[in-house]
Amino acid sequence: MISVEEAKKKIIENVKTSETIEIPFTEAEGFVLSKDIISSVNLPYFTNSQMDGYALKSEDTKGASETNPVKLKVIGEIKAGDFPNYIVKSGDAAKIMTGAPIPEGADSVIMVEYTDENNGFVNIVKEVFPKEFIRFEGEEIKEGEIALKKETELNPASIGFIAELGITNIKVFGESKVSIVVTGEEVIGLDEELKPGKIRDTNSVALASVLRRENAELLYIALAGDDPVEIRQKISKCLDTSNLLLITGGVSVGDYDYVKDVLKELGVKEIFWRVAQKPGGPLYFGKKNETLVFGLPGNPASVLVCYYEYVRPALRRMIGRSDVHLLGLVASLSEEIGKKQDGKTYFLRGWVEKEGEKFCVKPTGAQGSHILKSFALSNCLIIVPSDVNHLPSGSTVKVHLLPV
Ligand code: AMP
Ligand code: MG
Repeated sequence: MISVEEAKKKIIENVKTSETIEIPFTEAEGFVLSKDIISSVNLPYFTNSQMDGYALKSEDTKGASETNPVKLKVIGEIKAGDFPNYIVKSGDAAKIMTGAPIPEGADSVIMVEYTDENNGFVNIVKEVFPKEFIRFEGEEIKEGEIALKKETELNPASIGFIAELGITNIKVFGESKVSIVVTGEEVIGLDEELKPGKIRDTNSVALASVLRRENAELLYIALAGDDPVEIRQKISKCLDTSNLLLITGGVSVGDYDYVKDVLKELGVKEIFWRVAQKPGGPLYFGKKNETLVFGLPGNPASVLVCYYEYVRPALRRMIGRSDVHLLGLVASLSEEIGKKQDGKTYFLRGWVEKEGEKFCVKPTGAQGSHILKSFALSNCLIIVPSDVNHLPSGSTVKVHLLPV
């Protein structure tokens, strides 16, 4: 049995980053760039106004004030989308809207709030400085510069930024191809009739749901009962085609737990089995070529804890992300927690929220590994360290935030 920290380390050590793929930039949220993006444009594209007002020569406004306004001739109006072809000379002003191009000759913009226009002339009641309220061509980025570096994680703003650059396809680390094999003779598919002794398969459904958030491509989901021949056949079907294989159930020490034997027969190398934790103690991790295999203990809460703490980091590392682990924060416990002196790390389902200046957290109900209700009500996992057996109310605990 290994510790939670060792298990996490061994997993990350064994992850290989996916091959580069080319995708339309509009689909790139959550992916990571595998190549620098070089700009072929200047941003802003052209020098333009930051305000609604008048483009003018700043020297013309010297000494302007409420009591001593400067009067300039309005020589035109520039709307956003126009392109002026005249020159602003001393004594001239051009009415201009935010985002409209600055006409030649003007070096600044006065905000409309400090002006008063009448009969083709405008009174200016405030001095402006050279360059004031002007957004210059290329000040954000210049043609030929790196717009986004390799290994940048793409968020919605990145997608908008790439659109500005006029780029259509980009190179990213490819998504992981995932397969799920659910074991258990008692487990039936969602479309089957629930007969005595049987239970519905919640594991593959919950896993498919969390996988969607990580841009994983779900290749295959199969139910395999507890028959080693069937388990072998279903596992071997996806071992070569998947980057990640998730098996649920059958990985403990029960008489019908065949998963480890089958994996061994199929040439999967065991990296570890069993982690000093609750839930999810019987977690198995192995590898065949570059395919990572997780044997997740069958109880639904164990499946999700193991997913969030171990599988998700592997998935994210595969696509080149560096922020692979759940975000941690420190909170004050609102309820006491007791646990056995068993040397195991406990992951409790909890609810954390801000109360005044600090975060407070409490468990969300019964914590049995078969219980999904408390998970459904939680927004974090409360970490009770392996060497602790009692945490009084008010003590400080670490929590891992579940992704929203
Ligand atoms: P196992 O790890 O195979 O010993 O299963 C542990 C517990 O999880 C048993 O109570 C199983 O019935 C339950 N279980 C296994 N697979 C699933 C599943 N796909 N959906 C819901 N519960 C499951
Ligand atoms: Mg089972």
